[in-house]
Amino acid sequence: MLFDVLTIFPDLFVSPLEEGILRKARQEGKIRIELTDIRDFAEDRHATTDDRPFGGGEGMVMKPDPLAAAVEKVRAGGNTGKVILLTPQGRQYTQDIARELTAEKSLILVCGRYEGVDERFRAAFCDDEISIGDYILTGGELAAMVLIDSVTRLLPGVLGCPDSAGKDTFSRRLLKHPQYTRPRDFRGIEVPEVLMNGNHAAIGAYRFIEAVRRTLARRPDLLIQEEFTPEEHRLLKKHGLLEAISTVKAGRPDGC
Ligand code: SAM
Repeated sequence: MLFDVLTIFPDLFVSPLEEGILRKARQEGKIRIELTDIRDFAEDRHATTDDRPFGGGEGMVMKPDPLAAAVEKVRAGGNTGKVILLTPQGRQYTQDIARELTAEKSLILVCGRYEGVDERFRAAFCDDEISIGDYILTGGELAAMVLIDSVTRLLPGVLGCPDSAGKDTFSRRLLKHPQYTRPRDFRGIEVPEVLMNGNHAAIGAYRFIEAVRRTLARRPDLLIQEEFTPEEHRLLKKHGLLEAISTVKAGRPDGC
């Protein structure tokens, strides 16, 4: 998958792309990341990419012409993918959207700065707008990295253990169960016995119930649309969790 990133700070991307799974995915050709400096498309000798807002007010706005020229250059280079503007005003990013984006062969990610981009560029060039949460960053670069990272780990062959993405929090509408590793006794706190006995059915049931308990406690909203298999239903009944789930599904996630 090709990610073309348009930014006025391409150096921000260097270190995150040089470590861990993203580095390996790049080396193995699973992803390619091309950084385009929007300043290279400025029309004056000061490489100006922003200007004061018409109508007055605070801050600076990114000029439409360098942004448009940068997109056109990337398109001319063969990237015919969607143009995604990273913006706090976009649709809120989720694991479902990350999964949806894995179907794309290429994307063009536009990182805003200052007060954001000129509205005419947004309307004419952007196919999608994504926010990574209800808070304001200084620029779209970290948001673009979040998107690249989360999409990349879902691409076939990127994770060492192919099962692991499918069992993550948000792979269904559940938080992942708590996890333990060695030592068996950490400062007097033992690993739950069920995880030590090699009974995979019992371990699966324990993990499922703990995932549901954790989701009920922390993110009951997720459970509203979750469906359970007959076997899961039986386990929920056995552990006395059906009522709490019905309450959540009835739209009373606080259990009142
Ligand atoms: N003035 C803008 C507003 O109120 O909507 C915020 C501009 S913000 C300081 C600068 C840039 O950071 C934005 O253009 C966008 O590219 C990026 N950005 C900030 N918060 C973001 C978020 N939650 N998700 C995605 N991008 C974000």
